[in-house]
Amino acid sequence: MRGLGGVLICISVIAFLGAFAMETAVASELGNRVYHIGPVRKQQNAFLMAVGFYFGGAVLVLAGMRRSNSRPARALVAVKACAFCAQTVRIEALVCRFCRKWLTR
Ligand SMILES: [Zn+2]
Repeated sequence: MRGLGGVLICISVIAFLGAFAMETAVASELGNRVYHIGPVRKQQNAFLMAVGFYFGGAVLVLAGMRRSNSRPARALVAVKACAFCAQTVRIEALVCRFCRKWLTR
């Protein structure tokens, strides 16, 4: 899910650059170049698409970050019971966070 979000953000950057590079001016009958509503609309659509991809990707990345932050933290932390108050504290703790007593290993 997070990888897909990164891919979407990359696509949005490419689409944004592509939209930026789009030719929106056409040659007029007088010989000069004028903006034409058709290419300008296409460019606007490409910008909107890029913005949509960017926010979609950002949402996916944030959702992936939230999930990956919470799950391994719960699974990987080694705990032990405090010898004084029997609360669960991390195995590398020097002081119990509940009763504030020094823990010996
Ligand atoms: Zn304790």
